[in-house]
Amino acid sequence: MKKISLTGWILIAVFVGVLSGWLFHDTFVIDVAAFLATVFTRLLKMLIVPLIFTSIVSGIIGVGSATNLGKMGGKTLLYYICTSFMAILTGLVLVNVIQPGVGADLGLKEAVTMNAGNAGSLVDVFIRMIPANAVKAASDGQMLPIIVFCVFLGIGITQLPKGNLRTSLENLFNAGFQVMMKVTHIVLLFAPIGIWGYLTKLVGTTGFDAFIPLGWYALTVFMALVIHAFITLPLILRFMARYNPMHFFKHMGAALLTAFSTASSSATLPLTLECVEKNAKVSNKVSSFVLPLGATINMDGTALYECVAVMFIAQAYGVELSFVSQMVVVITALLASIGAAGIPMAGLVMMSIVLTAVGLPLEGVGLIIAVDRVLDMCRTTVNVWSDSCGTMVIGKLEGEVGIQS
Ligand code: ASP
Repeated sequence: MKKISLTGWILIAVFVGVLSGWLFHDTFVIDVAAFLATVFTRLLKMLIVPLIFTSIVSGIIGVGSATNLGKMGGKTLLYYICTSFMAILTGLVLVNVIQPGVGADLGLKEAVTMNAGNAGSLVDVFIRMIPANAVKAASDGQMLPIIVFCVFLGIGITQLPKGNLRTSLENLFNAGFQVMMKVTHIVLLFAPIGIWGYLTKLVGTTGFDAFIPLGWYALTVFMALVIHAFITLPLILRFMARYNPMHFFKHMGAALLTAFSTASSSATLPLTLECVEKNAKVSNKVSSFVLPLGATINMDGTALYECVAVMFIAQAYGVELSFVSQMVVVITALLASIGAAGIPMAGLVMMSIVLTAVGLPLEGVGLIIAVDRVLDMCRTTVNVWSDSCGTMVIGKLEGEVGIQS
């Protein structure tokens, strides 16, 4: 018999969860489901601090040595940050226009603290970002101060003279990150059970009311992804790389389909490299630098999704996010996407950064989990598409002669 993949199990869990919530509402099954959902939430929370710590420090170390590669490093980083921002802003505009979570009566309004959503003034946000005590920030799970500390630590490591000491530290953090990816993978094996728990509890307590806003939420993410993938990135490709977007789309077909079905940019990387080099004729010098870096830090789809999801959760909890708070969402969504590993559901784990930054409960993740896998497949495709377009842009800027449509 063919082995069922994790995606398959998750889809089964979604289906069975909805069914059992509907059949067993008001019974002990809902309590069991709530228990399993809590276990899963705690497992996800357990990952957050070590995952962020290792991924950001090892990311900075990687970029640190990348900038040694000179101008190409700078251009690549600029491309990554700009496109991720454009993606987030597209999501932010759509979620404010469509407002998928507004008016969703899910009985959650009491669950948030009075000052949730009010991040204070920009000065307050800035001051709170600097940890007076890095260890306390980590034990309290305050994401922004941890990130700031990690950035300093990463930069510090890259400033050490080349030699054994620096290499050992680099290896330590890279190994730590690899281990945390493995631990995440193990925790995610529990995802189908956790998702079953979330959905049974959700449908068992609120009936199908939750599904209308959820549908609008999924549609909002999807539409924003489509705008980014089919308008923003092709325009960049056309005007900066002078390449025909349709041709390039055809060249990248195999990689994009793989990204869609695996929901992992890292797993897709070998194929992305092959399509870019063989079909689009970008040199190995450019692609072997831009693509691996992109697969780890450039995630336009994930950044956009983080922003829309957190805005949706805030709307569903009846929390109005001030302008400053929305800016905090934008910046933390960018950081979360940089920190997210190129593996399935990494974006969901990283969402805690954005949620805690604006004072929303992590349990909000339970609201969106039902549609997460499908959206993961879509956002991963956009992540890979953006990396690939980036390779063309950088290739062109580096004066590659082979690139012509
Ligand atoms: N699955 C995504 C990727 O590998 C990351 C995410 O969960 O958003 O690109």
